[in-house]
Amino acid sequence: MSITDEIRQVLEQQPLGLVFDIDGTLSEIAPTPDEAHLYPGAADYLKEANTHAHVGIVTGRGIKDGARMVNVEGLTYVGTHGLEWSQGLPTTHPVELLKEAEPYVEPGEKLLDFAEQRLAPEIPGLIVQRKAVGGTLHYRLTRDPEQARKHLLAALEEPARQQHMHLGEGKRVIEILAPLTINKGVALRRFVKQFGLHGLIFAGDDRTDLNGFYEVERLRQEGFAALAIAVQHQDTLPELLEHANIVVQGVKEMVQLLGEITAYLNEMQAKK
Ligand SMILES: [Mg+2]
Repeated sequence: MSITDEIRQVLEQQPLGLVFDIDGTLSEIAPTPDEAHLYPGAADYLKEANTHAHVGIVTGRGIKDGARMVNVEGLTYVGTHGLEWSQGLPTTHPVELLKEAEPYVEPGEKLLDFAEQRLAPEIPGLIVQRKAVGGTLHYRLTRDPEQARKHLLAALEEPARQQHMHLGEGKRVIEILAPLTINKGVALRRFVKQFGLHGLIFAGDDRTDLNGFYEVERLRQEGFAALAIAVQHQDTLPELLEHANIVVQGVKEMVQLLGEITAYLNEMQAKK
């Protein structure tokens, strides 16, 4: 994949925003979330791109977990699908939890306790990942993932209702979420506003990125220069591909394209 006129037209906007999901976009999906790491070269490209554009990382991971993987200073990190924000690495910068999310910290903890104490012992291989609000249950490594999924959804339904929390799904994961309309799309809109952007590229690979793609569509309808890049894997949602402006094959091609984007931004800078 090389730089097309469509991409060039967005890259020439200033201020420009480049926003990326992590898992499945800049890093290959690993058996466990702790084993995932950024694709070689990706961090250097992000660092370089950030000298020309506002680079954001928007992940479903908790912010500290996501930022630990990327580990590039000066980027905007957005964790837990838009609930946590930091203008730099959260190890050196304050983390803002959106006010709307605060009432759901404790209900989220209760459900995660339930998952750790009651469900994990029943389902070998289940990984429970806690976040600032709610968390994620990874059933990829369980003996019968489809069975585990059904079991988890059934067991969580009533406790989630009692705690006024929502259940969501992604690739081999069940998410315990605050019942808020904050999602990656809302996060993108906030990011665009915050930096007064005139151009935006957003890349993602999974169901939760779809909200980001819808936001890109809305921005385009408003005449804003925006592009959504879908990173295609074997099990990519058809809707994601339908709503993408560009489709790349896997993380490798995504990182190559990021390299091309960075090179183009360098070139533009050199011409000035
Ligand atoms: Mg992803």
